[in-house]
Amino acid sequence: MTDQKTLNLSLEDIENGVLRKASIQCYSKGIEIIFPGFETMTGVADALVYIEYRKGIPYVIIWGKRVQEDPTHTISLEGAAAGPRCPTESRFEGDIEGCGSANISPKDEEGYQDCYDCGVFFKGDYEAETTAIVQRLDLLAGNSQ
Ligand SMILES: [Zn+2]
Repeated sequence: MTDQKTLNLSLEDIENGVLRKASIQCYSKGIEIIFPGFETMTGVADALVYIEYRKGIPYVIIWGKRVQEDPTHTISLEGAAAGPRCPTESRFEGDIEGCGSANISPKDEEGYQDCYDCGVFFKGDYEAETTAIVQRLDLLAGNSQ
């Protein structure tokens, strides 16, 4: 890995103010975080934390047990993706709250989108104060508000 860039740090221990060492090694395929005095059984240069992209989604991989070769945690950051989502807050009385999923349809010709996870039917750009949210079942039942 010749494309490595290393950043050596002194981090203040938040419990007692003691300065501790850490280093971040950056490669074209990922980022390793190393804490001297802590190690793993893997061949990943004793990085306890590794960050990489998988199909456009950042993942944080953590080795939290020295005696365990496989990571103890593999965390997808997909849920933090920016972009349009199913609305999760009601903005007016009787408003329907959605689930926050990014698994939504493209806007239809009137600008409405459908959440594939919870079924809320909402106008795109839901962050605007005046956007109304109606549930698909209400529309189908003719109960539009
Ligand atoms: Zn939803």
